[in-house]
Amino acid sequence: MMSKRCSPPKAQTLAARRQFLSGNLSIAYKNPLKIVRGEMQYLYDDEGRQYLDAYNNVAHVGHCHQRVIKVAQDQMAVLNTNTRYLSDQIINYAERLTATLPDLLNVCFFVNSGSEANELALRLARTHTEARTLIVLDHAYHGNTTTLIDISPYKHDGPGGFGAPNWVHKVPLPDLYRGLYRAADEHASEKYVRHVSEVVEKIGRGNLCGFIGESFPSVGGQIELPKSYLAAVYSEVRAAGGVCIADEVQTGYGRIGKHFWGFENYDVTPDIVVLGKPIGNGHPIGAVVTTREIASSFDNGMEFFSTFGGNNVSCAIGVEVLNVVLEEQLQSHARGVGDLMSAGLRELMSRYEIIGDVRGSGMFLGVELVKSRATREPATEEAAAVVNQMRNSGILLGTDGPFHNVLKIRPPMPFNRADADSLVSTLAKTLSVLS
Ligand code: PMP
Repeated sequence: MMSKRCSPPKAQTLAARRQFLSGNLSIAYKNPLKIVRGEMQYLYDDEGRQYLDAYNNVAHVGHCHQRVIKVAQDQMAVLNTNTRYLSDQIINYAERLTATLPDLLNVCFFVNSGSEANELALRLARTHTEARTLIVLDHAYHGNTTTLIDISPYKHDGPGGFGAPNWVHKVPLPDLYRGLYRAADEHASEKYVRHVSEVVEKIGRGNLCGFIGESFPSVGGQIELPKSYLAAVYSEVRAAGGVCIADEVQTGYGRIGKHFWGFENYDVTPDIVVLGKPIGNGHPIGAVVTTREIASSFDNGMEFFSTFGGNNVSCAIGVEVLNVVLEEQLQSHARGVGDLMSAGLRELMSRYEIIGDVRGSGMFLGVELVKSRATREPATEEAAAVVNQMRNSGILLGTDGPFHNVLKIRPPMPFNRADADSLVSTLAKTLSVLS
């Protein structure tokens, strides 16, 4: 643990950050936090103040989980090298990971981030289909590389972006609250699917590389897709010769409560699954899991190698994170606490007009704030004010969605019933002051 004395004051750290780091690294909250320690669902600042973390899904089994630390330390003391030697850790990890997935998804690749994993997924898809054209959901984010900015409307349509290249086809985000077709329209799902069919018709069958989508779009505003949407899209895409990629970077590992993987919520099996954030509990691990058929197409003579991907330490950590998720029954915990929290948030919605929608599943929730329920005009400034006030009250949230008006709730999984009550009651106080 870093002591108070050896940590320079916050103002000095802020000034040094401005001096040495790029300005486009954003800082959360009007009054920035200098976090010096984490423990399970809590973070501690440089003055020793505790914050309830309702935002950081990377620390999936909890910040600095003791079992994960121990395994990492032990393995670091023995060996950490690359995949060109036989190793039990990588085999163990691949076996354990594939055991959580549908049988067809049985070949693993290990890299170091969600971005690297999505990059690799694209290479696999392109090699397998010998096509390039990709269908993406509007407002999606898939990572920070050049190609991933190209497939991420959240970035390429935003400030500093240059729009989509001609091989990327954007379809409307199936957002039943704010999207083109809404919950009141019983044909909304089919209408959203029709946009995918139109792209397929336009580019011609056989020219499609595939479709990539998050199972629960996160930066799009914590969206749950219409139930039948993915099954219909997958079948259109496959009929056109494309492959279906599920970006599970935000939603895997039991977070949504009802299921271990987000795509299971829609009764589909992707051809390629992309994993990141939670699987290393903060240690940088990304993974791609695919079918033997797609992996065989990719095995075309060009070596695949990542210096750090699949190293002994990362794999040992990956296995232990999975052990903790399963042994501590975090999926059913997420369901129980998530249901309680949703119920509390819905009750707030009955009292505060500013809450236009409460949605999500398990510990992946969104609270959409609007200036008027009738017009659904986004309450962007109010959402920022709520998040800043919650931070001052000791609870960390973020905002997301195209208008940054959706409160994003994605805590480390040990977040418990008392934490959920505290979040809901503090939010109630914040909203009552605001109104
Ligand atoms: N996919 C999704 C859905 C993400 O949310 C992110 C990160 N926010 C990424 C990919 C990229 O992951 P990373 O930052 O680890 O490269």
